[in-house]
Amino acid sequence: MNSSIKPRRNIAVGGPVLDGNEALYVQECLRTNSISSVGRFVADFERKFAEFCSVRHAISTCNGTCALHLALIALGLKPGDEVIVPTLTYVATANVVRYCGGRPVLVDVDRTTFNIDPAAIEAKVGPRTRGIIAVHLYGHPAEMDQVRRIAQRHQLFVVEDASEAHGAEYRGARVGGLGGCAAFSFYGNKIVTTGEGGMVTTNDDVLADKVRLYRGQGVSPHKRYWFDVVGYNYRMMNLAAAIGLAQIERVDHHLARRRQIAAHCDAQLASLSEFVLSPGEALWARHAYWMYTVLLSDKVKKTRDEILTALEDQGIETRPVFYPMHQLPPYREPGGAYPNADYCASRGICLPTHGRLTDADIERVCTTLRHILQA
Ligand SMILES: *Cc1c(COP(=O)(O)O)cnc(C)c1O
Repeated sequence: MNSSIKPRRNIAVGGPVLDGNEALYVQECLRTNSISSVGRFVADFERKFAEFCSVRHAISTCNGTCALHLALIALGLKPGDEVIVPTLTYVATANVVRYCGGRPVLVDVDRTTFNIDPAAIEAKVGPRTRGIIAVHLYGHPAEMDQVRRIAQRHQLFVVEDASEAHGAEYRGARVGGLGGCAAFSFYGNKIVTTGEGGMVTTNDDVLADKVRLYRGQGVSPHKRYWFDVVGYNYRMMNLAAAIGLAQIERVDHHLARRRQIAAHCDAQLASLSEFVLSPGEALWARHAYWMYTVLLSDKVKKTRDEILTALEDQGIETRPVFYPMHQLPPYREPGGAYPNADYCASRGICLPTHGRLTDADIERVCTTLRHILQA
């Protein structure tokens, strides 16, 4: 190798920024011997997160999948029940319905927001339908008024899967309090992270008590070592909550930086508008930009995967848009037609989006993409 060629730093697609009180708080856990789920940070993080979402209750869990599962348990989902789920999502959204013995019923998405298409929901409502999970994919909120209206008409519950959308707003209201309850993920690459972690948020006192009960093995709140129900151990560690509290203290800064990054990408990609469509932001939405996700146009001759590989060869990590559920073996549906999800999944690229990107990184990503598309 020619040693005069300076190796360029790889640009990661995502990752945390841990530049607040994270280390201080983790050290406090170690110093005070409070590393399990017992400790001050669990309650402090839950309180701060509830404030952040303007909800009455925030109940921490060991990951986002557990948070979604607990939401469905607390809502009383039973074997044979059906839940409406967008086909374009992360697999956990559909899996939790199966964990309860239910059946996820898939619905196509909107091409500009990547979120559930309200106009396609009602055709999928049947006698066994119990609820709708609206996912705020990649940080853009779902069209909640329309989802709620349909839910009301058919007496269905609404759960928000807000795993990718901390701080996103729908008509001026933060996600997390827009349905019966919501689930968040704090996985290492999410907007707010605890390494592994999750949260259920709700304004419903009864539902909140149920989530707490089932999270903690179902132990009676009145009698130690007494169990009336089969519960789970889905608790968050104090160690993780310590990181979460530090993250939420600086969340406004983290969210603002993501919007700057998105605006910078928009500007850099404006001259490529023939080839790539930048992520839209509906008039009623405030995007949280978990992942800045573009769609390739018909003008692009290379395949999406060829473009991902070419970016990787230049040290730029990206990800393909999720495979829709109807393409995956557990949820495959012969004859199911989801043209918008197929369209987004075959043309979508998540570009690097995280708080450690420099302006030079963003320019390098966009310039490299331009060269690949115009080659
Ligand atoms: C990350 C994610 C989850 C699951 O969260 P984990 O913390 O990884 O269990 C669920 N739904 C969506 C849409 C996600 O992005």
